[in-house]
Amino acid sequence: MNFPKLIINLEHIAKNAEILLKKLGNIELVAVTKLVLGNPKIAKILKEVGIPKIGESRLLNIKKMISHNIPGPFQLLRIPMISELNEAVPIVDEILISDEFTALKIDEIAQKYDKNIELIYMVDVGDLREGVWFEKARKTIENVAKKLKMAKITGIGTNVGCFGGVLPSKENLNILVELKEYLDKKLETNLKISGGSTVTLKLLENGEISEKINQFRVGEGILLGTDATGHRNIPYLSQNTVILEAEVIEVDYKPSVPIGEIGRDSMGRIPHFEDKGWRKRIILAIGEQDIDPSGLKPFDKNLEVLHASSDHTIIDYTNSENTYKVGDVLRFHLSYGSALRVFTSPYVKKIFV
Ligand SMILES: *Cc1c(COP(=O)(O)O)cnc(C)c1O
Repeated sequence: MNFPKLIINLEHIAKNAEILLKKLGNIELVAVTKLVLGNPKIAKILKEVGIPKIGESRLLNIKKMISHNIPGPFQLLRIPMISELNEAVPIVDEILISDEFTALKIDEIAQKYDKNIELIYMVDVGDLREGVWFEKARKTIENVAKKLKMAKITGIGTNVGCFGGVLPSKENLNILVELKEYLDKKLETNLKISGGSTVTLKLLENGEISEKINQFRVGEGILLGTDATGHRNIPYLSQNTVILEAEVIEVDYKPSVPIGEIGRDSMGRIPHFEDKGWRKRIILAIGEQDIDPSGLKPFDKNLEVLHASSDHTIIDYTNSENTYKVGDVLRFHLSYGSALRVFTSPYVKKIFV
């Protein structure tokens, strides 16, 4: 059984990382590996091209990399669960936080292990995912910093684009710059500013990034060459880093509207159909368990991905100049969401080239 298959091109990933390292200059580039489940082969080539730090949301992935001798330092990206701190503190180097209780718990464990640990306090500038609300940030962070004995707040950071889809801007990043200036004075520090993710690259390209922002955490850009929030292929990066191949198991000619009373589909959704008459259709042996069908980008641009159930994906190829037959293999680029499922699905073979 050879399909579905994900072809992972390590050279393209390495090249993307190298290009970004150059583009970012003095800004520290944290390469984020959560999309690829902390894959050690990928982490290894990232370190080989000079990535200074690896960012991960899952402690399990960090443990996997450590057990494969991937050198750190490691940044724990997801604000941690209290229940993982005992394991996390001894093995990670930098943790993003947004809560006083968590900070104090980290400090307590750091003292126990005599472990230097750096904390980046996250600030919510409007996207409504993690972080102390920006209007309360000064007091909160100053207060927490003064209570810590072993752990240190060495930076502030923000995340945009993830929940609210808020785009980074000069204005929302300047909130961080002003906060840094305030805290540096109060705490006699020189805090770093962890300014964003793939979507923030756009500001860098436009010269709109304050030179005070000195850390970027980038996953999607390196691994896919795309920017989901900014909705673009990043022109100077490769999108041929990962390619999905899936096998055709039925080719047929059927109406575009089902016959019978319509209930819900297998995912509980109410399907909608446009009557286009009879259409040429393909069924692929891959489904919702492995991909997000809306994030499949066929190499044959005239294919239309219609729908998927857990194990089948239906494609309309009426507009294609190609003919297809059972046993053929179709190729796709992937959106971030689709790639996330592909990497997580044990049914998709991962092939490294
Ligand atoms: C996932 C994540 C990133 C990386 O985002 P990309 O869009 O993949 O570059 C950065 N920071 C945090 C906190 C994240 O969770």
